[in-house]
Amino acid sequence: MNFLIVGCGFTGAVIARELAEKGFSIFIIDQRHHIGGNCYTERDHQTGIMEHVYGPHIFHTDDEQVWKYVNSHGKFKPFINRVKSIVNNKVYSLPINLHTINQFFNASFSPSEARKFIEKQGDNHIDEPKNFEEQALKFIGKDLYDAFFKGYTKKQWGLEPKLLPASILKRLPVRFNYDDNYFSHKYQGMPENGYTSIIESILNHKNISVELNQIFSKDLIDEYDHIIWTGKLDQWFDYSEGKLNYRTLKFEKNYAQGDYQGNAVINYGDETIPYTRISEHKHFSPWETHEKTIYFKEYSADCKDEDIPYYPVRLADDKIVLDKYLALAKLEKKVTFAGRLGTYSYMDMDVTIRQALDISKELIDRVESF
Ligand code: UDP
Repeated sequence: MNFLIVGCGFTGAVIARELAEKGFSIFIIDQRHHIGGNCYTERDHQTGIMEHVYGPHIFHTDDEQVWKYVNSHGKFKPFINRVKSIVNNKVYSLPINLHTINQFFNASFSPSEARKFIEKQGDNHIDEPKNFEEQALKFIGKDLYDAFFKGYTKKQWGLEPKLLPASILKRLPVRFNYDDNYFSHKYQGMPENGYTSIIESILNHKNISVELNQIFSKDLIDEYDHIIWTGKLDQWFDYSEGKLNYRTLKFEKNYAQGDYQGNAVINYGDETIPYTRISEHKHFSPWETHEKTIYFKEYSADCKDEDIPYYPVRLADDKIVLDKYLALAKLEKKVTFAGRLGTYSYMDMDVTIRQALDISKELIDRVESF
């Protein structure tokens, strides 16, 4: 059997490798000039700093198999993301932890005092939070919500937080100790030589060929036994059921001498500041030394046809359209839809790899049962 995979991010690469290991021949195309999708990294030409070209990617997972998988394709160095947030000209620690609470309320609470205090801050009229705002008001109260989440979320999603699902906020913990590790996962790290080299290694198999700068055309379908589509789900169906909404990101790149902000990521909670965060990429590789620095102001915007999609918005209207596409996708026996865009879901890298491994297994089982 021969497979065509459209899109050469983590999803496409992992599925290609799993199928190639079983002796199938795989052709991958990508419309961009590089592999790796939005995880693509390259060294900045002027400074030599490893640049996360489509924004910061930090690897974190509880999935041991996924962690072993990525480590078998390149060395990961320990990296803990410690994010700060600037609100009203003051710097706070994120995710909300005992330090943030004490800084913000000008207090020196112990863990149990802080827990009681925050419980009182929370709105206990809300039983079952129905949206992002209610989730925040219930668990952290209005003051912390207004400072850290309201403005940032409006900028990030271009919407009132009332309209967003509570699940987005559930990505972030609230801690009653001084642990300021942004992620709670067991395994965390950064690839020593960037993500591109990890993906290159995954693709390095005699049964896989990759062609870049290739736009997919439906004429190709007949030439293959099966297609794996990791592009936008709605695009495959020529938007017949309407468009699914995505957010895109725009990065303003700047150069400076020395250390610009002293940290990899600083968020900006105020709505009056147009960007959501600034990331300074040499801090993602703290084992390297560079005299110069590069930093990126990150702006979020509605995703137009010509933009790169980053985040699926998944509002109620999108879910209705999504269900229609999922029904159509089930009928496409010759096509498998995979990845953040192909399944229209807000997945981190580790979940993407897990999904790709599971999809590969299903495909292999299906083919071997014939
Ligand atoms: N968020 C926020 N303030 C912050 C960081 C995050 O309001 O300082 C909200 C925002 O709505 C964001 C969500 O929490 O979309 C999830 O944050 P995360 O850092 O997981 O987003 P990602 O890294 O995927 O952009």
